[in-house]
Amino acid sequence: MIEQEMDFENRIVSPEYNFNDEETEISLRPKSLNEYVGQAKAKENLSIYIKAALKRKEALDHVLLYGPPGLGKTTLSGIIAREMGVNLRVTSGPAIEKQGDLVAILTSLNEGDVLFIDEIHRLSRNVEEILYPAMEDFSLDIILGKGPSARSIRLDVPHFTLVGATTRSGQLTAPLRDRFGVLLRLELYTPEELAQIVRRSAGILDIPIDLDASLEIASRSRGTPRIANRLLKRVRDIAQIEYDGVITEEVARAALMRFDIDELGLDDFDRKMLSAIINLYGGGPVGLDTLSAAVGEEAITIEDVYEPYLMQIGFLTRTPRGRCVTKLAYDHLGIECNLKQQSIFGSDNQ
Ligand code: ADP
Repeated sequence: MIEQEMDFENRIVSPEYNFNDEETEISLRPKSLNEYVGQAKAKENLSIYIKAALKRKEALDHVLLYGPPGLGKTTLSGIIAREMGVNLRVTSGPAIEKQGDLVAILTSLNEGDVLFIDEIHRLSRNVEEILYPAMEDFSLDIILGKGPSARSIRLDVPHFTLVGATTRSGQLTAPLRDRFGVLLRLELYTPEELAQIVRRSAGILDIPIDLDASLEIASRSRGTPRIANRLLKRVRDIAQIEYDGVITEEVARAALMRFDIDELGLDDFDRKMLSAIINLYGGGPVGLDTLSAAVGEEAITIEDVYEPYLMQIGFLTRTPRGRCVTKLAYDHLGIECNLKQQSIFGSDNQ
């Protein structure tokens, strides 16, 4: 129903990793808890658990990190390994296809190592079953052979720390979730925290930037450090080609306007999705699958990638009957909101 094909892969405000992030993603990653901006609660808890584990000379308990993409889950796993003084091994749920893949990884770890599994909710059940005794007793039950001659052997694995990351903790099976001792939820960042991240990254990349310009970029970064860093690099390009290289508030604003990102960080896709709910479904409620068909984007992506920020800024609510656009969004889009819709928001927002 939306005529123009959207280029989701290269969406500049996508919180998901894209190919162009590669050159700087590693250099911009904070390496210690002190350098890691924001997430005060998660940081405080982690710091206590790390100190306690170090004092007891034990591996850190398994940690589950959950929250939308681009908030620093991978970064935090690296910090945990560094602060514990151990190696980090990085993999992801979809990359571990067979039980044997996981057995090979687990048996190659050293005592205390951190194993980071991104998108852990996408592990297959088969593979998950191997993980249970590994997490709990640091052992593996391996079946050798088939049929009546099959026998099971038990293998010890080093005491490791599993750091699992997921955008959807609700999709984790209960037995897996129960085996994590530490559950940390990462929140979207405030514009002030993001501005601090922008200035830190500008320092590392040697980009001159004003305080106001860092806030300007931050407030359009949808609460997400990955987007803040990406916008900073794109604005730098324009500052170098069309201005004298310094990012001032004026330069930042002009550049961001050119990328079609408005002052709240919304791009074309957000505006189209909100407009679709308003124009096709009277502001909602509309079911996720219906909305997904209308805007031509997968339901899971709408839920994980677009909605968290729209909900955080109060433009969208999730109700048992579906998604509703709020009056704030109507005002932002300059569309008149009628009374019937306002009464829906009234009951939803209570
Ligand atoms: P996730 O694993 O949650 O998708 P990442 O850990 O890959 O996110 O973070 C994306 C980028 O954002 C990293 O390259 C890092 O530079 C930056 N970043 C994330 N969290 C922070 C933070 N708290 N402070 C500074 N930079 C951060």
